[in-house]
Amino acid sequence: QAKAEERNSYRFFMPTTRASVIDRLSLEGDLRHAIAHDELVVHYQPLVELSGGTIIGAEALVRWQHPQRGLIPPDEFIPLAEESGLIIDIGEQVLRQVCRDLGRWRDSGLQAGRISINLSARQFRRDGLAASIHRSLTESGIGGRQLAFEVTESVVMHDLEHTAQVLTEIRELGASISLDDFGTGYSSLAYLRRLPIDILKIDRSFVRDLHLEPDAAAIAHAVIAMAHKLGLGVVAEGVECAAQLALLREFDCEEGQGFLFSRPLPPEQYAIILKQGRLPLASPPADAPRRP
Ligand code: C2E
Ligand code: MG
Ligand code: MG
Ligand code: MG
Repeated sequence: QAKAEERNSYRFFMPTTRASVIDRLSLEGDLRHAIAHDELVVHYQPLVELSGGTIIGAEALVRWQHPQRGLIPPDEFIPLAEESGLIIDIGEQVLRQVCRDLGRWRDSGLQAGRISINLSARQFRRDGLAASIHRSLTESGIGGRQLAFEVTESVVMHDLEHTAQVLTEIRELGASISLDDFGTGYSSLAYLRRLPIDILKIDRSFVRDLHLEPDAAAIAHAVIAMAHKLGLGVVAEGVECAAQLALLREFDCEEGQGFLFSRPLPPEQYAIILKQGRLPLASPPADAPRRP
């Protein structure tokens, strides 16, 4: 199985050998081709309200539909896309696809909710990010409130002042801002005071051990309480089992995302579950005790 995985995946971090340099160049070429030939697709992972299971939106996650290799996950090409600058084109394609899907859903009477889009550091280092978002919104007739943008602490770290400025511009379009993978970067707390942020996304690593390690639970609980005191919303990522969900509810975490509710879905499938309005696994059991 390890063999099969190796054959099907690109691994190009830190090329040191001649062969890997050539591989890397070939991946870059393939990726350029993919961008030009619409091989990048966007999947949507539902975000649910933890109290009742209502779908409140989704995170847009890019995949590469490779004609030979099948669906390639973002971790296998985003790092190279960031290094090579191709992330600029990818970012614009993802944004346009999301706006197009939102337009389609609106036209068929569906409430798609808030769609989150991930942003890379490189996209901030270039002028005109907010302007390009504004253009996509105008072209598709989508309101900025329908979008949220996710940045990680490492993105913010590059240039705090500049990033805060651009995030403010994006927010002026009506979009909200989430701090992604919260708790995995450096000096997170300092950023919270200086950045225009609406939502904290608790990193999957804390959620994973929530029901297993008291320390992970304590951190998650404290982060949720702190976010609320700061007037921020909280999303738990990577919710995989009922025990984690129960604790998150106990800690008053309002939103979650994870395989327990749904994997990331192609747009047509996301539309199907939108019609249902809620996700069964996320709904509390009918006999669940009410908390005082
Ligand atoms: P992320 O933004 O933290 O996205 C969440 C990742 O966690 C997704 O992986 C999602 O499929 C995965 N996930 C969700 N629920 C669960 C769960 O219950 N268990 C587990 N084990 N995993 C779960 P994915 O789609 O492979 O994306 C990986 C990363 O690639 C993203 O992490 C994000 O940093 C990046 N990425 C994805 N799409 C884009 C994009 O359009 N632009 C940029 N710049 N980065 C992107
Ligand atoms: Mg994200
Ligand atoms: Mg994340
Ligand atoms: Mg991540």
